Formats: sequence, C-alpha cells, structure tokens
Amino acid sequence: MPIHLLPEDVASRIAAGEVVERPASVVKELVENSLDAGASRVEVETQEGGIRLIRIRDNGLGIPTDEVALAFRRHATSKLEVAADLDEIATLGFRGEALSSIASVSRTTCITRHASEETGTRIRLEGGQIVAQTPVGRPPGTELLVEDLFYNVPARRKFLRTERTERRHIDAFLTRYAIAYPGTAFSAIHDGNTVISTAGNGDPAEGLLSVYGLELGAGLLAIPEELTAGLQIRVRGFVGPTNVHRADRGYMTLFINGRWIQDLRLSYAIIQAYHTLLPVKRYPVAFVMVEIPAGDVDVNVHPTKSEVRFRDADAVFRAVQRAVRATVIDEAPVAGSWAPSSGGQPGEVRGEGGETTRDRLAALRPSQSHIRFGSDTSPDAGSQEQGFVTPGTSVEPPPGERIHTSSQAGEPQRARAHELPPLRVVGQLATMFLVAEGPDGLYLIDQHAAHERVLFERLTSGTVQGQVARQPLLEPKVVVLPADAADRLSQILPALTAVGLEVEPFGANTFLVRALPAQVQHLQPADLLADIAGVEGELRVEAEVQEAVIRHICKRAAVKAGQVLSREEMNQLITDLEQTQNPRTCPHGRPTIIQISTEELARQFGRLIRDA
Ligand code: ADP
Ligand code: MG
Repeated sequence: MPIHLLPEDVASRIAAGEVVERPASVVKELVENSLDAGASRVEVETQEGGIRLIRIRDNGLGIPTDEVALAFRRHATSKLEVAADLDEIATLGFRGEALSSIASVSRTTCITRHASEETGTRIRLEGGQIVAQTPVGRPPGTELLVEDLFYNVPARRKFLRTERTERRHIDAFLTRYAIAYPGTAFSAIHDGNTVISTAGNGDPAEGLLSVYGLELGAGLLAIPEELTAGLQIRVRGFVGPTNVHRADRGYMTLFINGRWIQDLRLSYAIIQAYHTLLPVKRYPVAFVMVEIPAGDVDVNVHPTKSEVRFRDADAVFRAVQRAVRATVIDEAPVAGSWAPSSGGQPGEVRGEGGETTRDRLAALRPSQSHIRFGSDTSPDAGSQEQGFVTPGTSVEPPPGERIHTSSQAGEPQRARAHELPPLRVVGQLATMFLVAEGPDGLYLIDQHAAHERVLFERLTSGTVQGQVARQPLLEPKVVVLPADAADRLSQILPALTAVGLEVEPFGANTFLVRALPAQVQHLQPADLLADIAGVEGELRVEAEVQEAVIRHICKRAAVKAGQVLSREEMNQLITDLEQTQNPRTCPHGRPTIIQISTEELARQFGRLIRDA
C-alpha cells in the first residue's frame, strides 16, 4: 500500500482510542470544557454507568452558532492560536481532540447557546458524522449528550468493566474537581440517584465535607497559604492530621494549576512529609493543589493530560514536601501519651470561612475513650474449648513439641500452634516494645503487633461462632463517604453484621452506624468505614470479606507505637497474647515477639552460661 494520509474519520477514531478510554474519560473531557467555559454550575447525569448515556449541562459561555460544527472537527480549539501558546497553557483543554473523539465513538448531541447570541444550536452526530443541525432556544450554556458509547467500537466496549466500576471512576473524578473548584456547583446523578451535590459557594471546606463527610472532612488541616505566599511555587490544600490514615494511596490527590494529575514523585513527597508520623504501610489523606507559572510546567505530555513534566521537578517536590510537613508537624500530637490522639481536633484553622464550620463540627465529635485490653467483653471467654478456625483457612495441628500451658489452672487445654511461655513484664522500650523475661531469656514484644493479634483472634472466633459482642452506640452515627468508597462499602454491608458492625444505608453515600464490636468500641466509625470500604466486595466469598474487614479493624484499633503503657496494661496485653492461638505473629504475618536466649546473652557478654 502506498503512503497516504488517513481519512479524517479514521484519524479521529485513532485519536479517540487515546482520549476516550471509558465513560469517565468522556465526563472528564466534557467537565473540563465546562470549566474552561467559566461555568459556575456543572450537572452530570449518567445511565448504566455512562455506557448508555452521559449528559453534562453547564451554564458557561456557550458556543457561537457558526462555530458549533467546527468544534467537532479534530484539532479544532478556541484555546490556542500559535505554537508558542503551548508553552503557557492556562486552560484545561488545548488539544482540540475531545469533542471530535467523543463524537466519533458515540451518538452525540450538543445543545448550546453563546452568551452573546439570541438563539442556540442543536447538533447531532453519529459516529462523528453530523446528522442534524437546527436552531433552538435555551439559556446560555451548553449541554452535551453522549449516547451509546463505543457502539461502533465493539472491541473497546468489550473491555469496559461493570456499570458500577464505571460509575466509581466518574465519581472519583467529579469529587476531586468539586473540591478543587469550590466556586462551581457540581452534581452527579446516576440512574436517577443523586450521589454528589456541592453548593459552589466558594468555600472549599464545603466540598471537603460533602465529599469526605463530616468526620474526615472537618478534621483535615488547611495548608496555611502564608507558607508559600509570594513564592513561584505555591501550595494550597488540605491534609489529614497524623491520626487519620488510610490503607491505600487513593486518598492522596494532586492538582497542578487546576488540573488533577498523577505523579508518583509528588505523591512520594506527600508520604515523605508524614515520615515517622504514620504507622507503616499506612497512607495519608491529602488534597494538595500546586500553583506554578504556566511556563514552568509542560502539560502536553499525555493525550489525557493526566501527567505533566516540570522544568524543575525537585523544586516542586521540595515545595510540596515542606508545605505538607509544616502543616502536619504543627498539629501533630506529642508522641508518648497513652490516650489516643484527640480524634482530629482541627485546632487552629487558617483557611478563611472554614473556622466556624470546623469548630462546630469538632464540637459534635464524641470524645474518645481509652483503649482497654480488658477481656471482660471477650466474646470467646466461655468457649475456649472450641478449636479456633480462621475463615477460609484450616488450622495447623499443634507441633509435636511438648505443650505446657500458661493458662490458669483448671482451664481445659486448647490445641495451640505456638504456645508462649509464662512471661514477666520488665518494662517498655521506645514506647514500641514490651520487654519481658521468660524461662529462656529475654523477650521483646511489639505492642502494636501483639494487640492486633489479640483483637484479631477475638473478632475472628466471635465471627465464626456468630457471637461477636457488639456495643450499640448511644446515638447512631451518621457517616458520609466519598461516592466511590460508599459504593464499595454498600457491596459488603451484608458481611459486616457477623463481625459486630451494624451499618445500614442512610441515603446517598451515607451510612448509619448503630453498633461496633465491643472490643473496639472506641474507634471512630467514619475512619473505620473508610478503611473497610477498601475491602473489595467483588469476587470474594463472605468469609474472606469478613477476614479482610477484621484485619482492618484490628490494624486501626490496636495500640500504636508511641503510646506509653502502664504496667497493668502491659501485663494485660501479655496475658491476652498468651490466650491466643498464634501468639507469635500478627494477623499480617509479622512477628509479635522475638527472643534472645540466656545463652546468647551470656555469649555476647563473653561468659559461659554455667558462670551466669
Ligand atoms: P479543547 O478543549 O482542547 O479546545 P474540545 O474538543 O474539548 O477541545 O472542544 C473544542 C472547542 O469547543 C473548545 O475549544 C471550545 O471552544 C468549545 N467547547 C467545547 N465544550 C464547550 C462548553 N461546554 N462550553 C463552551 N465551549 C465549549
Ligand atoms: Mg476540551
């Protein structure tokens, strides 16, 4: 075949493959267009996860009648003129590819009226070809209707995930833009249900609250604007206090010049800022917006514009790391107090307007009680004869070695995998380890890992036996989650009851928590639900979901490194650990206890054991 230029429709389809990956990409491109058009209201509506229909309505500038058809041509844009403009892009769009790409893989209708014109235009395209164009009346602004996405690209359509997954992607995008653009009112309606709705009153706290819910949203710390005021690189946004953390990176969001981007290095800058302040393998909640002169960042790196390149990446890294660190350090609770830190007391809030809301919300927060190790609420207290079974796994038979139980006299012996010897607590080391003496030397116990193990076994055996002690809350707690997390949570709700969590749906993205497992009744329901939402419901059997949920609960509820324990608390923890079936590892498989034998100590001191 001789070399030839591809026909326009083929070229558009190829471009569409890069720009329009899934319904959420359509929403992203169209919402970006609405924001570029100066809209103060953007409404998103979908049916069947956006596959059947996506409708985006805005009150922006609109498109002039004689430009409407042109807007659907590839490389047609009103945002760039000459090549040099590419070096200083101030709009979200600039490639002139979105409308043509979307129209080429769907049936698209655009109804728009430019603010300066009397009448509007309705244009309809199928597979990129204009099939109708007529004048219509409507208020200024634009409505884009995208139907039957990928109807003519069966290969792509096959790769779409479930409607639910597609909705999640859409919501993940919209919730973030709702926060970054507090002056714009966003709404999202999926199959008739409103799941996102922000007022657009200019207060970013509003967006945070409606998106993250009261508990999380109100506890976030505003990055003080003064930190970077007047600098080339300015950093704004909100970060979680150190007692708020999540199991995955999904709660970290980065905006550069009003654009949500993915950037591993900058995510790492945020994680770095929390260095030593969060438990291991836990990630901060952060919403960081960087403003940088348009000339210092290249946004023309990726067709979906989700990656950028910086002229001086190190400088941006430092700016983010410092701003976040300064904000967090300022609020970090002093390590070493046994009581859990104060549940995200907002402390001093610098963001304007946020103060009253947050103070009000902080007042609503229930005070936290101290963690107790007491076994009085232990659900398995009376049933210790029964073999312990972890859901989905089988119990290892006890090893051949002789078992000498450390339990009280008279109690029946249980089959246990790795018996602990009787231990005498000597003290606490680095507010992290318990130091104990045993029949064969020195024992160091990781307080967090040990407590996790204790909680894990109590909750697991209680769940299996259907008798987890639950503690009804004095007042049911309302928890709002980000739409995508809420969606995940609602999938696993039925599995939670057996674990001791009574949670019921309570409107859009909202849940009512009625009871917590008694073992962990001090936990903040909102934190807990956010963690648990991370447990994927799909493709899992109930027992697996429950085990994953229990792991999350234990991780959050267990005493942390940095907490000073009283002697009684240490003794109780050791006693409780002795009662477990697998005292030597935490539920994640790491050791709870290490031992240095008397012989080893003697050797280290250069003496023979019989001299000791
Ligand atoms: P780009 O955004 O890169 O310019 P698009 O294909 O997304 O390219 O849009 C083409 C043009 O159509 C835009 O440059 C803009 O002038 C116009 N347009 C698209 N959507 C809207 C909207 N919602 N309101 C006003 N104008 C719009
Ligand atoms: Mg665009």
